[in-house]
Amino acid sequence: KLHNTILELKGNIRVFCRVRPLLPDDGPAAEATVTFPSSVESAGRGIDLYQSGQKYPFTFDKVFDHNTTQQEVFMEISQLVQSALDGYKVCIFAYGQTGSGKTYTMMGRPEAPLQKGLIPRSLEQVFQTSQALAVQGWKYKMQASMLEIYNESIRDLLSPRSSNGAEGGGTGKQYTIRHDADGNTCVSDLTIVDVCSIREVSNLLQQAAQSRSVGKTDMNEHSSRSHFVFTLRIYGVNESTEQQVQGVLNLIDLAGSERLSRSGATGERLKETQAINKSLSSLSDVIFALAKKEDHVPFRNSKLTYLLQPCLGGDSKTLMFVNVSPDPSSVGESLCSLRFAARVN
Ligand code: ADP
Ligand code: MG
Repeated sequence: KLHNTILELKGNIRVFCRVRPLLPDDGPAAEATVTFPSSVESAGRGIDLYQSGQKYPFTFDKVFDHNTTQQEVFMEISQLVQSALDGYKVCIFAYGQTGSGKTYTMMGRPEAPLQKGLIPRSLEQVFQTSQALAVQGWKYKMQASMLEIYNESIRDLLSPRSSNGAEGGGTGKQYTIRHDADGNTCVSDLTIVDVCSIREVSNLLQQAAQSRSVGKTDMNEHSSRSHFVFTLRIYGVNESTEQQVQGVLNLIDLAGSERLSRSGATGERLKETQAINKSLSSLSDVIFALAKKEDHVPFRNSKLTYLLQPCLGGDSKTLMFVNVSPDPSSVGESLCSLRFAARVN
């Protein structure tokens, strides 16, 4: 009975933690900043973080240590990706401070086959499976869109004119978010592209990366201050049974979660930081309210949560990666990230 209650409470929200390897640029690690408990109850699910001699234990749905490969991580989410083809709305987020491995987890290094991240792997699986289902009479139509949310405003990354780098692609477009009665999201003026192959989507991902970097002296810096939202809409019709499904796969590389005090921000930087803090805390509030099945879910408090509203509530499925750096100088931020994740889990 108790077990059931816990499952009910948790709903469709899962949290996976991933710790990246120590990199040459990280500070010298006199002692491990994280360890992974091996007791039966917590094997593969526990992480202990150490700060000033104090141990902080956490448990998540899964914990991936620094040795976990991209393929191994993907194995754990391939079912979730599959459910988008079955007609579910799916969101997968990467949360963590800048440098913790969010982009590595989501995109990886697409040019290195073993290091491809979740986005290219998910797309490969979606296209392969949709082709395999053709023998059962299924025909799929897929549409991709890519946007970023920067300072609480949406930027279309596939707009032909966004390459000039100005806000809203320099087109004066509004990108107003609307939800229709069927739970479909419409962002006015947003470019939506029909895609039939992994190659087509890969080209779009490249185009998106380019329009993110145009006019930016530091692409990494810019991308760490904005949320990247990749959306694949999937429409399936079975020609023999006349069954129809509509699924959505949202893959989201969130802005860096580092706290204001550390970046010592003023002016434009302060505005950015406040926008990021607002949207990340709104995301946490929304997921927390959904997990607790509260009557009021504050979707409208940020662009990110309002955009994703239909894909976060109801019978949709949400997975959040909390990415953690083992760098000793990041322990404080890591603790914040793990606490954030523990709250939504
Ligand atoms: P973020 O997007 O959170 O700022 P990145 O994904 O850019 O962080 O990762 C920071 C650095 O760490 C990059 O050089 C990246 O290639 C490397 N890295 C992150 N995770 C891993 C991993 N699991 N294995 C190997 N290198 C990683
Ligand atoms: Mg990144």
